[in-house]
Amino acid sequence: MRKSTTLKVDLRSDTVTQPTPAMLEAMMAAPLGDDVFADDPSVNALQEKIAALLGFEGALFMPTGTQSNLCAILAHCQRGDEYIVGQFAHCYRWEGGGGAVFGSVQPQPLNHQADGTLALAEIEAAIKPDDAHFARTRLLALENTLGGKLLPFDYVRQATELAQSRGLTRHLDGARLFNAAVAQAAQTGGDIFSEARRITQCFDSVSVCFSKGLGAPVGSALCGSRELLARAHRIRKMAGGGMRQSGMLAAAASYALDHHVTRLALDHALARRLAEGLSGIPGLAVEPPQTNILFVDLVGEAKARSKELIPYLAARGILVTGLYRLRFVTHLDVDSAGIERTLAALHEFFAA
Ligand SMILES: *Cc1c(COP(=O)(O)O)cnc(C)c1O
Repeated sequence: MRKSTTLKVDLRSDTVTQPTPAMLEAMMAAPLGDDVFADDPSVNALQEKIAALLGFEGALFMPTGTQSNLCAILAHCQRGDEYIVGQFAHCYRWEGGGGAVFGSVQPQPLNHQADGTLALAEIEAAIKPDDAHFARTRLLALENTLGGKLLPFDYVRQATELAQSRGLTRHLDGARLFNAAVAQAAQTGGDIFSEARRITQCFDSVSVCFSKGLGAPVGSALCGSRELLARAHRIRKMAGGGMRQSGMLAAAASYALDHHVTRLALDHALARRLAEGLSGIPGLAVEPPQTNILFVDLVGEAKARSKELIPYLAARGILVTGLYRLRFVTHLDVDSAGIERTLAALHEFFAA
């Protein structure tokens, strides 16, 4: 088993994974070039692989998902344009307002429905008429999974068709696209990669993270048309994302695509196991997880003890985030023993 699980159960995020020995070997063996000269063979191979996998003309390897989303927003939109986006979307709420700061692109945030979607009527109503009073509505940005929720596929199709029919382009923040694809495949009985493609084909661009559940140390990819990527490439350069011998990182991402996609189902099963094990504890309101992220609200008297809880768990080597709303994220470096330890510690805490 992985070394980290014997010491710590780190449920703060799926970004905390360490590269596996086999992934490290792939990184060490990667042929390298200089990607600013576009001649790093490992970067080129990764870009071709992810583009083919998701059905796009090309892809650009990015250091982070934040930079990938930023390049997408700025490649789709000009100054004075706006993008329609969810209040809790990463590329609105958690990226420092980069689209506005670097691109003078105005976000038009909408509230989410309980299932994470943006109501079609609200999207429609947010699209501005062509009039000098308004910013030009250019882009619809969705996120899947969003807070661990799988967007219903019929919704994804309807929302992106609506956007297209109104002349908007469509971007998907698919940081956890493969978690979505695994959950969707479990519903339909389909193949995981076909489900991933079914989602991505509704969009003009897609950003995918290799450093979340896929377990690579660094990296995301922005997929799209050659024309869009030519613009994104210039923006990536301006943002300082032109990397050199990045083939070492691309090799880790490529290894992750080959070996760490189907196993995401194990992470989802562990999140469900954790939810089931916690559901008997009074004072905890457990949201049934759809993928690898579990939210648990502290309610009633349990709420008064919230400040003690995280240090109590940390003292037992169990790391989580939140206060009144705890977040547990399962990943490659969490095993079932770790989940049972977490359950035991939580039962102990609430029994005291
Ligand atoms: C993590 C994440 C990103 C990108 O994060 P980086 O830390 O910049 O790689 C983007 N979108 C979502 C939904 C994410 O969870």
